[in-house]
Amino acid sequence: QDFRETLEITPLSTNDQIEPHRICVCVRKRPFNKPEMNRKEIDVVSIPGKGVLLVHEPKQKVDLTKYLDNQVFHFDYSFNETATNDLVYKFTAKPLVQSIFEGGMATCFAYGQTGSGKTHTMGGDFIGKQQNNAKGIYALAAQDVFTHINHKRYANLELSVYVSFFEIYNGKVYDLLNKKTKLRVLEDERQQVQVVGLEEVYVSSSEEVIKLIQMGSSCRTSGQTSANTNSSRSHAILQIALRRSDRATSLHGKFSLVDLAGNERGTDVSSNDRGTLVETAEINRSLLALKECIRSLGMNSDHIPFRMSTLTKVLRDSFIGVKSRTCMIAMVSPGMTSCEYTMNTLRYADRVKELKGNSKANEAVQAQEPLESSTEEESFVDTSVYD
Ligand code: ADP
Ligand code: MG
Repeated sequence: QDFRETLEITPLSTNDQIEPHRICVCVRKRPFNKPEMNRKEIDVVSIPGKGVLLVHEPKQKVDLTKYLDNQVFHFDYSFNETATNDLVYKFTAKPLVQSIFEGGMATCFAYGQTGSGKTHTMGGDFIGKQQNNAKGIYALAAQDVFTHINHKRYANLELSVYVSFFEIYNGKVYDLLNKKTKLRVLEDERQQVQVVGLEEVYVSSSEEVIKLIQMGSSCRTSGQTSANTNSSRSHAILQIALRRSDRATSLHGKFSLVDLAGNERGTDVSSNDRGTLVETAEINRSLLALKECIRSLGMNSDHIPFRMSTLTKVLRDSFIGVKSRTCMIAMVSPGMTSCEYTMNTLRYADRVKELKGNSKANEAVQAQEPLESSTEEESFVDTSVYD
């Protein structure tokens, strides 16, 4: 008998408590897709309870009822295949939207193998190819940003919203809102990093943000000619910046949402094509650097090894300051044929989780009460105040 049947399944529900931490590490398992179902793939991943994930690889191909020892992982949250983008958003990126209004820098990473659901989670329906109308974290966060901006709690800050969207491929930055123009990354004597000439578009509604994301995403996948780029080999970064309207250049808070390159690309050593090897090394370097930078954030360290990669360079600000917060969502495929990659992903996420350390910095964040207290309506603006 499959031991999984004996486990009580207690999925996360929308009524569960959100526990804001400076570093949050979660895992999301996607459902089987058609080809996997046709192949009758075996499900090797189960989520028996909140934050728990089990991997059970059959011991041998001939006897599928015998499992290797279960590998147990614990994360802040674990989302099973029935979880919607809305649910994932609520426990991952949503608390971070709040934090940028409090003047913080926030980052949310989608990590995992190609095909594990990174773009589905971040971009949702209009970037992924699925039939339902699921919004991704990009759009949900954008909506929330405008709910907050119109709220009386933040009205006196007079904040404006700006969006940029770019891609990092082979260590080079390409502007997705400006015809994939290649941009230089400069660091000044105070270690401030700047992406020179990056488009930053003023937006006044979440619909405008969604249009920009659609435009940028189509730019990302098309025009894969000379650079031979491909979305699985590049990191895509959407940044939502809040600036004080009174002083056009002053940054109040920033949210970076990162759809990382497929992590299998960082370990592929089978190729002997020079271009692929360079690509592989670059992706590997950036994912290692990311882990190290999150570690320094967790330790509240002054030394941030952000120069290790372009990815961490452009995100430098996200790894400093007591107000910085980060969330990693590790995506896994359910099937046995992906097991090795799944284990790699989980080990990486597990390591990031350990890096949270036990320093003061990681105690639960004493956040302000979220805008939504009991009903969604309460979070909307009471415009009468302004009229
Ligand atoms: P990645 O960006 O990690 O390479 P995708 O997000 O493109 O992977 O997902 C691969 C395929 O699986 C897509 O067709 C996507 O729609 C589907 N998919 C991924 N996650 C889910 C999910 N949670 N629910 C339904 N379909 C999903
Ligand atoms: Mg993708």
